[in-house]
Amino acid sequence: MDIQNKPEKKACGRCGQAFDCHSRSGGCWCESLPPLPKAVAGHDCLCPSCLQKEIQAQQAASKP
Ligand SMILES: [Zn+2]
Repeated sequence: MDIQNKPEKKACGRCGQAFDCHSRSGGCWCESLPPLPKAVAGHDCLCPSCLQKEIQAQQAASKP
């Protein structure tokens, strides 16, 4: 029983979708995505689809 290696259950701060966070077990899927230019206020983690949308939205907004 090694709880440290279990993915952490999280719920998306935006859509409520449940997902697994693997940051404690040696590598989360979110680390393969570019870091968010700006942290999302009031949110912990976002689900894969919301995180990708947020990254794209911030990248689009930062272009001239
Ligand atoms: Zn989401």
